[in-house]
Amino acid sequence: MERWSLIIVGAGPAGLTAGIYGARSGLDTLILEEGMPGGSTAESPRIENYPGFPEGISGVDLIERMLKQCERFGVEVRSLESVKRLVINDGTWRVETGKGRYSAEAVIIASGCRHRTLGVPGEERLRGMGVSYCALCDGPFFKGRKVLVVGGGNTAAMSAIYLSNIASEVLLIHRREKLRAERIYLNDMKRRGVKVLWNTELKEIKGDVKVEGVTLYNNKTGEVTEEEVDGVFIAVGEIPNSEFAREAGVRVDREGYIITDQLQRTNMPGVYAAGDVTSCPVKQIGTAVGQAIVAAVEAYGYVERPYYYKG
Ligand code: NAP
Repeated sequence: MERWSLIIVGAGPAGLTAGIYGARSGLDTLILEEGMPGGSTAESPRIENYPGFPEGISGVDLIERMLKQCERFGVEVRSLESVKRLVINDGTWRVETGKGRYSAEAVIIASGCRHRTLGVPGEERLRGMGVSYCALCDGPFFKGRKVLVVGGGNTAAMSAIYLSNIASEVLLIHRREKLRAERIYLNDMKRRGVKVLWNTELKEIKGDVKVEGVTLYNNKTGEVTEEEVDGVFIAVGEIPNSEFAREAGVRVDREGYIITDQLQRTNMPGVYAAGDVTSCPVKQIGTAVGQAIVAAVEAYGYVERPYYYKG
């Protein structure tokens, strides 16, 4: 079994930041990432509110820079390796993945979230055939076509704005009559000709082998309408990737987000959490980075000064 001082689960902004701080303070640091580095940040076409980039930066470019910084300090980043179990074992943690077993003195969980699905007819069947959860990844397939975006948060608004440069027509539907997204996005959508349908729900996605249309329901008037579209981008929120942590005894809230104190400590000794997987209601790259710094500094203290940290 490989031995590490610090294992970080997830290579999004929180995981990579924890890696930089962990390795730079001298801890042997391994990051395990179930997909490719970046998490949902890599899906963001443009980040305008992360300090230090006045012109904005794409999610991919920001992650690339963080990865380079990890490399510089000797962090080992292993992609396509999903953590299945965390087990406490004689005061250290055993981390089990589909590929191996590792021991760690401290663990930082930065496993982020995954896309929530709607569960409407046609959604699963036509996934990848016009149904998408990532405008940046799949938007270019819809050049000159008509697309529908579902959701009222920042992700839905940003997706609609991004798609307005590619598609011939962008419709956004939201189940209420007010967006959850920041107002700046609504103004931008208006300027770019995105048509917003309020109080509107998606009931069905139609098409034999690819998306051809949708059935919409107006929950105020009760009206049911059909709309021809070529693509459906679903952006209705996230679900935390915390199952393995919960099974290890880490405390989560009702929705599955990991509960930490202000030093990012979970209820389990030597286990910290940072970023979107935590119950912090502000899901921003900046907050994820800040939490990860606190988590890594605390993890360093836990590993190097156990007499102090373990009482
Ligand atoms: P979100 O803020 O949770 O918004 C999810 C949206 O989907 C809400 O408008 C919600 O409607 C709607 N929704 C949820 N379940 C639905 C259902 N079953 N049917 C129809 N609509 C449904 O999620 P997000 O936009 O993915 O953002 C996640 C987090 O990342 C947020 O904290 C967000 O601020 C952050 N983020 C920030 C930025 C940025 O700062 N630029 C960019 C992207 C994401 P209701 O409003 O009615 O609840």
